[in-house]
Amino acid sequence: MPLLEVNNLDVCFGLRSGAVKALRDVSFTLERGERLGVVGESGAGKSVLGFSIINLLSRPGHISSGSVHFEGKDLASLAPGELRSIRGNRISMIFQDPMMTLNPVLTIGVQMIECLLAHRRMSKADAKRVALKKLQQVQIPSPEKRLDQYPHELSGGMRQRIVIAIGLLLDPDLIIADEPTTALDVTIQAEIMDLMLNLCEQNNVALILITHDLGVVSQVTQRMLVMYAGRIIEQGPTKEVINDAQHPYTQGLMNALPQMAIPGQKLNQIKGSMPPLQDIPKGCSFNPRCEYVMDICHQALPPFTRSGNCQVACHMMAESAQDKLQLKEV
Ligand code: SF4
Repeated sequence: MPLLEVNNLDVCFGLRSGAVKALRDVSFTLERGERLGVVGESGAGKSVLGFSIINLLSRPGHISSGSVHFEGKDLASLAPGELRSIRGNRISMIFQDPMMTLNPVLTIGVQMIECLLAHRRMSKADAKRVALKKLQQVQIPSPEKRLDQYPHELSGGMRQRIVIAIGLLLDPDLIIADEPTTALDVTIQAEIMDLMLNLCEQNNVALILITHDLGVVSQVTQRMLVMYAGRIIEQGPTKEVINDAQHPYTQGLMNALPQMAIPGQKLNQIKGSMPPLQDIPKGCSFNPRCEYVMDICHQALPPFTRSGNCQVACHMMAESAQDKLQLKEV
């Protein structure tokens, strides 16, 4: 049984102007200890997906159909207490801004110890020992001193290490990290990502890494999903997707990487921008920006077609698969 199974997930936001779908028919699985990257431009639905998994969507967002199973349990059907226990004990979420996790008026020690005492039967002294051990694991200098400090007394990199330590406090099976290094300097970003990778490997923790940074995804994850306008448009082993992207949108993301630009010339761009959720084009939502657009792209949603170990939602792939099938039959 996979650790996490997301099936045909639709998420709607009920607005005054009508309901808009932020996620459409999202399906994937995650095995224990596996690291999955979720990429796409802003507005693709990456963060909504992260919040939907732990059922933390804020109103007016809600899951309108589909399911999320964690170790076989349907998270939407759990009692609030049971759901809170899974969220606290088994699934942790790490946000871009550490201050979304840290309480500015409590010391780091108080926050970590309270978290442990709320979820585990242990003495305060034992909770302090566990908190200290986790700070050591995330390689914070002078961990004893940090327990008595407030978040504002620490640098951005150190705060994010503490958030990771808090994420690991209860030995979760799954961490969902939403742009965990975007707010940090480039040199610190690499250190934090290395740290997360090592900690996940050492503790066999599964990771869903939500990011727009394809470089980070290629270094850290084993599998990846590419999202566009609330849908998965390509998914497969990270190496295969990165080295041989099939969907025109994924190809555009790869071409837009700085290392793909000719020195002295402008960076490559995907023309146009992501459509607003209330105005998703009919057929393939990428059709206004796609250089290979065909008539069918304006009429029908592209189905998923298998290509090697990847799945791609593009009519070009579906047509070439159909052609191959017909050739075989002849
Ligand atoms: Fe382009 Fe059509 Fe493929 Fe969409 S389905 S990516 S518009 S070729």
